[in-house]
Amino acid sequence: MNNTISIFAFLCLFLCTNLHTQSNADNKMKVKKMVIEGLFYTDHQPISIEIEDGKILRISRIEKLSDPEMEGIYIAPGLIDHQVNGYLSHAFVGEELNLEQVQKITKAFWARGITTYVPTLTSHRSDLLLKNFGKLSKIIQDEIVSLSVPGFHLEGPYISPIDGFRGAHNKAYIREPNWEEFSQFYEASGRNIIEVTIAPELEGAIDFIAKCRQLGIVVALGHHNGTTAIIQEAVDAGASVSTHLGNGCANTIHRHDNPIWPQLAEDRLTASIIADGFHLRPEEVQTFYKVKGPERTILVSDVIRLAGLPPGTYEDFDQEVVVTPEGKVMMPAQNVLAGASFLITEGIKNMMAFTQCSLADAVHMASRNPARLLGLHDRGEISPGKRADFVLFKLNKDGSMDIRKTMVNGVTVFEVE
Ligand SMILES: [Zn+2]
Repeated sequence: MNNTISIFAFLCLFLCTNLHTQSNADNKMKVKKMVIEGLFYTDHQPISIEIEDGKILRISRIEKLSDPEMEGIYIAPGLIDHQVNGYLSHAFVGEELNLEQVQKITKAFWARGITTYVPTLTSHRSDLLLKNFGKLSKIIQDEIVSLSVPGFHLEGPYISPIDGFRGAHNKAYIREPNWEEFSQFYEASGRNIIEVTIAPELEGAIDFIAKCRQLGIVVALGHHNGTTAIIQEAVDAGASVSTHLGNGCANTIHRHDNPIWPQLAEDRLTASIIADGFHLRPEEVQTFYKVKGPERTILVSDVIRLAGLPPGTYEDFDQEVVVTPEGKVMMPAQNVLAGASFLITEGIKNMMAFTQCSLADAVHMASRNPARLLGLHDRGEISPGKRADFVLFKLNKDGSMDIRKTMVNGVTVFEVE
């Protein structure tokens, strides 16, 4: 762990008046015992959480918060985003990917309340994917990164090559499922690929899905034009989630025979959605949410490397990409969206606005639900035994989150002065 952050984290702990801490000199990223207070995100009532060795020990109801400065500050589980292609000009399929870039992304996410994320590698050359999974297998062992990156997501290259369904994935890199090639990626990653997005209608896809499940890899259906029968076969083989449902789909589809209805109708599929206000219309978000409900809807950002950068014209995916002042990421040549620029905090705000769901439900879609999907049993909820990953925030009038403090594994990793 880098010294500046380490010192910052410990200063925060000692200076913060509402915390009663006892540092553990032997372990830089764990504080032996402490108590943190806030308004519980589910019922808006004050609670006190005891933390020991980075885990939640006990949660108690209290009459009022002991520090008046904590007035109006909510405490919720740290947010989890399992589709992150890049951020702040760095992409996980970048030729120059390195540890420093991933640390930078991790720390920037901490400042936005995201305590766990899954680097997502999209369709690319075999040698590049192999090289970057190899780099990531080492990067994931870093003290900072390992806290927040539980593994990797491979989206493509085994997806539909058809325009519209392939979205912004470069056609030249799209191919049929190849278990031998994937096994090389998997080994290069240190067996840390935890999710794969695939098109089920491709030759060999069903067999590929079954093999992924044998390794415990979560299989997502995305960028596909699967029929009802094929989607059911894929789910029978172990697919459990739709990647950004409603996107990675042609603009014009058959009113009966399209891949959206069968994915909505299939209860065994959780839906991940990009609720940034551009990828789906509010009424699509409403409908998907009404069908899938608060337990089987997941927010993902799908942020690309241009996220966090000023609006303008950039080159990405070997093509011209425009980030509009409103935050829309467009590929003008094909008139398609090329990923997103808003983080899942924006999705939480939009879910509440579009569906009138509660803060608790919106937060669950960005914490508990993805943790359950990915089998991350140590996080995603505020309950005894779980990792002490928290986001503390004020809720602005428009539903946006004003992040005040983020804790990972019981340590403050971000705090507003
Ligand atoms: Zn996609």
